[in-house]
Amino acid sequence: MPQALAPNERLTVDAIEVEVRRSRRRRTRIGLAFDPAGRVILEAPLDATTKELRAVVVEHGRWLRARLAVLKEQAVCLSMPTYVSGELLQYLGEAYELVVEAGPRRVSRRQKTTQLRLFSDVRGVVGTITVRLPDTDPVQVKRTLDRWYRQEAELRFAERINEFRSLPWMRKWSRDWGVRFMRSQWGSCATTGRIVLNTHLVKVPERLIDYVVLHELCHLVHHDHSYRFYALMRAHMPDWEARRLELDAYLPLLAYD
Ligand SMILES: [Zn+2]
Repeated sequence: MPQALAPNERLTVDAIEVEVRRSRRRRTRIGLAFDPAGRVILEAPLDATTKELRAVVVEHGRWLRARLAVLKEQAVCLSMPTYVSGELLQYLGEAYELVVEAGPRRVSRRQKTTQLRLFSDVRGVVGTITVRLPDTDPVQVKRTLDRWYRQEAELRFAERINEFRSLPWMRKWSRDWGVRFMRSQWGSCATTGRIVLNTHLVKVPERLIDYVVLHELCHLVHHDHSYRFYALMRAHMPDWEARRLELDAYLPLLAYD
């Protein structure tokens, strides 16, 4: 019987909710982890007592609370926007506060000075994105912001692609690429050599954009996910797997229209 015995045991210790997963493979140590939904998971040997489990949570309470706060904040940043002032928007992996104003149509991004940031912001906000519109209806704000994100994506992705210009096979590529809001993938590469990058990528850190860009560029050489494809990825980005994991945290972005 390879499966864990008692599924979904739950504990609450100092207001921290914990799910216990017992496993035959764990012989001694109790492990702490978070699942993708931001829940605390205790991985425990079959014979660990409740007292032992509680002790582990108490011992790591401070750290767990800090991690949970960060996860909650990230979840807030990545939730579906409603396009009203005060909401947080993502740009290159950083949080900006949305300001909606009436006036002639214009979108502007401003970063706070580092000093101002240190004093004023608890949410990790680095600046503001101001959307000025004659009509500040959320539908119009969304439309205007989407257009702005698209322009920014075209600029930023061109820079990222250019970073890979010295790859040996790049001279033969027609540089046929574009951006599109997509729901199911970060990028694609057609057999014709046309690469499409998801516009939402402009919201994630540059190093993760680079991972997607390189992935698609490697498809120009190997149009599959064979071991040769991954060997090529590894040769040019040894830590690509870590980057892919980081990018997974941004998957909720793909659910946006
Ligand atoms: Zn692929």
